[in-house]
Amino acid sequence: MKRFLLACSTALISVMGATHSANVNALPQFSVPEIGSGIGLIDQQKEKMIGEKVFREVQRHMPVMQNPWLEDQLFNVFSHILSQTQLGQPIGLVIINDAQINAFAVPGGLFALNAGLITSARNMDEVAGVMAHEVAHVSQRHYSRSQEAFKGQGLLTLAGLLVGALVASQADGDVGTAVMLGTQAALMDKQLNYSRNQEREADRIGMQYMYSAGYNPQSMADFFEVMHRATSQVSFLPDFWLTHPLSTERMSEARLRANQLPQVKSNLHDEDFEILKWYSMVISNQATEQQLQILANRKNFAGQLALSAFYLKQGDYVLAQQALDQAKLHQRLNNLMILMQTDIYLGQNKVDEAYKAIQSTARIMPENRALAFKWAEVLIRQKEAGQALNLIQPFANKNPRDISAWRLMQQAANIDQQSPFRTVNVLRYRAEVEYWSGWEENAIKSLLHAERLVKNNEVLSAKLKMRLGEMQKERQLKI
Ligand SMILES: [Zn+2]
Repeated sequence: MKRFLLACSTALISVMGATHSANVNALPQFSVPEIGSGIGLIDQQKEKMIGEKVFREVQRHMPVMQNPWLEDQLFNVFSHILSQTQLGQPIGLVIINDAQINAFAVPGGLFALNAGLITSARNMDEVAGVMAHEVAHVSQRHYSRSQEAFKGQGLLTLAGLLVGALVASQADGDVGTAVMLGTQAALMDKQLNYSRNQEREADRIGMQYMYSAGYNPQSMADFFEVMHRATSQVSFLPDFWLTHPLSTERMSEARLRANQLPQVKSNLHDEDFEILKWYSMVISNQATEQQLQILANRKNFAGQLALSAFYLKQGDYVLAQQALDQAKLHQRLNNLMILMQTDIYLGQNKVDEAYKAIQSTARIMPENRALAFKWAEVLIRQKEAGQALNLIQPFANKNPRDISAWRLMQQAANIDQQSPFRTVNVLRYRAEVEYWSGWEENAIKSLLHAERLVKNNEVLSAKLKMRLGEMQKERQLKI
């Protein structure tokens, strides 16, 4: 068996090598089996509905981080990888506040990363490698292809098992671990875990995606080794290991395959990643004050920002400002620094200063979600409802599952004293927050309430009825 696998991988590499030498001056041409584009519209819609249902379950049951800056940093990498595929707009990328190294993907295009993945990685390319592997599972439709039973209701059952396992893995103590292992045994039984061949395919195609997107393919092999070491240190296996069995063959194949690709210059000192990593450590409670102080005392920019974030999180605005002032001495433009400065002012109720801190940069970069949301937060504090709504509306239109956007819309509508539809708007935006956070019944109640208030307004009434119908239909999905 081992010999067969080895022969298989050698054949694969030589095919890729040949392709490359034929295109010396161009990017290597890869052949990715095209599966995603061939499925029917009904299957696509069904997958989307299931993916969205899982999104809501994950939001409701798991510690999902709602942090626009962090989300945007990771979504940026993720978009680069997705642009290498035939996949359409994803349902979303969620970041889970969990120190374990884990990532998962759900049909329809929902992707999740644990904070532990970011804090264990040494550069963005390592994170990109895991994302690319997950994207490949979805682009190759590994869930749906595995068995006939995976279609329709079968797929739902599997999504339910996945959510069950994820929720169980959040529980503390022995009972939680036992439940988790039990559920995972059930998952293995139902073959929710990918097969050996699917894992190898996700590695192979994922590496092509990451390489084409400009990331260093060696990092996928590097991170497998990091995960391997992390796993041997814990008493029970993390999810990723069980749902993506990491064999020594996979590790050596990844290295061999990466060696066949032209070298990508690695970022030996990637400060942006260092900032992201230390900031993630702080907001996922993995960094101590002492650790951050040592880093900040060495005049490390990422450390100074992280120390400021640490105090900000504790509500100590004086110390947060002190640490941020140290970071400012580097005279570097950085959006996270602007966001934190705005938060420090808001925390101290210095709303005009907060406005000055955010508005010029946010104005220059209108497409920057994190800056726009922070600016809207300031405008809401200044009772400027109309401006805040105009700022947020395009983001909610672009991604109707953006919970942070709907929450700001709700807050802005609430202070919009002049609007005759104030209560109706608050209710309908609140319904979206509730719905996408997994509280479907509350969402439906909010919309029903709103609908009663607009009985005499045909246009608005029809609009609300339509949305209500969608929610009621999608709620029928039981997983
Ligand atoms: Zn996998």
